[in-house]
Amino acid sequence: MREFAYVRAASVAEAVGLEGPVTYLAGGTNLFDLMREEVERPERVVDISRLPLSAVEDLPDGGLRLGALARNAHVAADDRVRRRYPVLARALLNGASPQLRNRATVGGNLLQRTRCRYFYDLGAACGKRSPGAGCDALDGLNRGHAVLGASGSCVAVHPSDMCVALAALGATVNLTGPGGDRSVPVADFHLLPGETPDVETVLRAGELVTSVDLPPWPHVRGTYVKVRDRASYAFALVSAAVLLHVENGRIATARIALGGVAPKPWRAYAAEELLAGAPPDERIFAEAARAAVAGARPLGHNAFKIELAARLVRRTLVELV
Ligand SMILES: Cc1cc2nc3c(=O)[nH]c(=O)nc-3n(C[C@H](O)[C@H](O)[C@H](O)COP(=O)(O)OP(=O)(O)OC[C@H]3O[C@@H](n4cnc5c(N)ncnc54)[C@H](O)[C@@H]3O)c2cc1C
Repeated sequence: MREFAYVRAASVAEAVGLEGPVTYLAGGTNLFDLMREEVERPERVVDISRLPLSAVEDLPDGGLRLGALARNAHVAADDRVRRRYPVLARALLNGASPQLRNRATVGGNLLQRTRCRYFYDLGAACGKRSPGAGCDALDGLNRGHAVLGASGSCVAVHPSDMCVALAALGATVNLTGPGGDRSVPVADFHLLPGETPDVETVLRAGELVTSVDLPPWPHVRGTYVKVRDRASYAFALVSAAVLLHVENGRIATARIALGGVAPKPWRAYAAEELLAGAPPDERIFAEAARAAVAGARPLGHNAFKIELAARLVRRTLVELV
C-alpha cells in the first residue's frame, strides 16, 4: 500500500470544505482492499466514519431516510425496513457476510467498485482503472460480466445487492458538496460505461453522499432473489428485486430491477410497462420476463445469464402472487 495523508473529518462541512482531491473512508471494506492492491492510490483519505450520518429516520410522507453511514446490518435489522421494505432487507442480507455487513455502510455500498478480475489485475488492460487502456475482459474470462448496458470499453458489472433493491424502490440519493446540496434518483446515480468506464457515477469532486430516501410503498409486496455460485458469501450471477401490487384482479404496480447483469442496477422498464394493468397470469409473466432481457448481448462465456435472468424474473413474479 502506498503512503497517503489521513484526515478525520469532525463535521460534514469540514469534510466537503477541504481543498484538493479527497477520497472518503466509511467502513473501509472496499476501499482498503483497493488500496492494498494499488488499484486505487488516493493522495488523501478523509475519514467520515464518525460523522452523524448513521440514523434511519421516518420521513413526513411515509418514506424512510437511511443515513449514509448506517451500517448494512443495522438497516437490514430495522423493524421499519423489514416491515415496509422487505425487498431491501432481503437484498442487504444477501450481501457479503455478517462481519462485513456490520462494517459496510449505505454510502459505501452505493459507491463500491466492480469485482471484475481484470480491474483488480494491474497487469491487465482495464479502461476503468486506466482510462483508454481497453478491456481484457471482452475476450477473456467473462462468465460474470455484463449482458446489458455494457460497451466496447467495459463489460464489468455493478456488484451491489442493496442498489438493486433501491433501484426497484425508486430511492433518491442525497448529496452535499462544495457546490451545495442536491438529490439524484438512484436510477440516474450510476452511469453506463460508454467510452468513459472510469466515470461510474454522477458524484462530483468532493461530493459526499449524506443519505438515501425511500419513498412510501404501502401495501406493495416485494422480494429480492439472488442466484450465485455458492449459497452464501458470493456476488450475484443474476439477481432480481421485484415489487408487485395487484388490485381488483389487475396489476396496479410492478417494479423490476436486475443485478449481476449490467454495469449499474438495471431497471427493466419495458417489462414493468407490459405488466401494468394486465391480469397477473403466467402468460404476461413470461412476456415480461423476455422483455426484461430484451437487447441483452452475450460475451464468450455468459450467454447463460440471459436465460437465467428471464427465468428469475418469471419465477419471482409467480411467487409474489
Ligand atoms: C469479501 C467481500 C464480499 C462481498 N460481498 C458482497 C455481496 O455479496 N454483495 C454486495 O452488495 N456487496 C458485497 N461486498 C461489498 C460490500 O458491500 C462493500 O465493500 C461495502 O458495502 C462498502 O461499504 P463501506 O462503508 O465499507 O465503503 P468503503 O470501503 O469505506 O468505501 C467504498 C467507496 O465508497 C466511497 N464512499 C463511502 N462512503 C461515501 C459517502 N458517504 N460519500 C461519498 N463516497 C463514499 C469511498 O470513497 C470508496 O470509494 C463484499 C465485500 C467483500 C470484501
